[in-house]
Amino acid sequence: MVTSDLVYGSGARQLDEKIKEMIAAIPKNEAQRLAALDRLELLDTEPEPEFDELVELAAAICGTPISLVTLVDDDRQWFKAVVGLDAVQTPREVAFCAHSILQSNLFVVTDAAADERFFDNPLVMGEPYIRFYAGMPISSPEGLPMGTLCVIDHEPRRLSTLQRDMLEMLAKQVNARIELRQQRKQLQAALREAEASKTELRASEERFRMFMDNSPFLSYMKDTDGRLVFYSQRYAERFGITTAAWLGKNDFDLWPEEQAMMARQSEIEVLMAGRLQVIEEQVTEPSGLVSHWRSYKFPCVSSRGETLLAVVSVDISEMMAKEMALKKTQAELQSANTLLKELVVTDALTGLGNRRVLEERLAAEMTAVRRGQKLALLMLDIDHFKKRNDTYGHQNGDDVLRQMGALLRRLVRGNEVAARYGGEEMAILMPNASEKDAAGLATRLLAAIRAQEWENEPVTVSIGVAECSQPDMTVAQLIEAADRALYAAKAAGRDCFVRRSETR
Ligand code: GH3
Ligand code: MG
Ligand code: MG
Repeated sequence: MVTSDLVYGSGARQLDEKIKEMIAAIPKNEAQRLAALDRLELLDTEPEPEFDELVELAAAICGTPISLVTLVDDDRQWFKAVVGLDAVQTPREVAFCAHSILQSNLFVVTDAAADERFFDNPLVMGEPYIRFYAGMPISSPEGLPMGTLCVIDHEPRRLSTLQRDMLEMLAKQVNARIELRQQRKQLQAALREAEASKTELRASEERFRMFMDNSPFLSYMKDTDGRLVFYSQRYAERFGITTAAWLGKNDFDLWPEEQAMMARQSEIEVLMAGRLQVIEEQVTEPSGLVSHWRSYKFPCVSSRGETLLAVVSVDISEMMAKEMALKKTQAELQSANTLLKELVVTDALTGLGNRRVLEERLAAEMTAVRRGQKLALLMLDIDHFKKRNDTYGHQNGDDVLRQMGALLRRLVRGNEVAARYGGEEMAILMPNASEKDAAGLATRLLAAIRAQEWENEPVTVSIGVAECSQPDMTVAQLIEAADRALYAAKAAGRDCFVRRSETR
């Protein structure tokens, strides 16, 4: 450490020795001391009134033209506060303060010109011509020496006890202000950090809101007591409220009791089970509108261990309406189909099976006949129907046909089939029955027709009865057989039945 800007004495060797004598020793804890000085972040800062006023006080109290707050850096002493000097720093080698920081109490040089250590110091021999120096060490908050509060005069002098005490007190003030300044800086840093995390929190909150508000569903969160702690913009819009109006409210405050109870129950289940549940809910809105929602309800646990119930709901009212309309259409289609099927097989006027049904059933029964089962057929024709039509009108004829159809339907049983064969001619098919069985039914039929009340005048019928006498008989042969018997009944005077077996 050789000062390049200071030239004094003569000869390099002499110079070196001089320097050695006047240079203060380096403190043992120099490395920690310099690190602490760095941490203060005081070096090369702008002047501050809180230090300036202390040097002014020190100079005034001690009656010296110069007072400094110095900081002893690695190779220089730097002045934080100055009164009576233009300089901002000097090399450490020539600094009086470098000596001061080696001790804990006031360091006084009464007359530098008469002092072995300082008489040839460039600051004594030249500007600022120091003769008197008194420096009280100042320290970092952890107690390491940083520099001094010192007073300097161009004349040798002594300080009174009061002045020394005051100087020590002022040095303590410097320490206190350094510490305060340090604490203030830490506080500011903490504040900046808090501000930064607040900004980040706000940004994160904004991102979350943007996500929720732009999503196509309603979303909300409740605490474990069921009070709303958050709901999205869409939710607010849907129910015509502001984004804060319902915060802190529970379902019982907002919805009809039954609805609130159902919602609360499902939410308790979700919280107890601790997992997602998908629930379809019907909601009567404040407007009176009934809507349907598919709600995804799930518990959320925050890093602080706080549990919230989160819900994402999709309006499925439209979908439900479409589904219901579809179901209705399907039901209508089904009944139309049933009707159509009936129409295909039913005679509209009499409500009996039509000729096609009769022929189909006859053909089907022939299989059983071939296996040895019996089959009987009755052919029935209304007597003098033409005359009745002519006398009482076609309408009355239709009424007779309708009544006759109802009567037949009432009398046939189980697997027997009554059909309108054509015009005023009807047939009854009796599976697994003989001609005799058919004769029994013919007898009951005639009795029922006679007992029936008819408009204008009684109606009578003629009936032909036949059975499949051979297993290879065809449908046409059976019909023909029954027809022959019917013809015979007509011939026999009508209002009677004839068995085919009796006609041979
Ligand atoms: P019979 O005793 O010999 O059977 O005499 P009928 O007059 O009943 O016989 P015919 O076959 O000569 O006449 C049948 C009549 O039935 C002719 C037709 O006008 C009438 N008829 C056929 N279908 C219907 C119908 O759906 N409604 C009405 N009102 N009359 C019908
Ligand atoms: Mg006829
Ligand atoms: Mg007839």
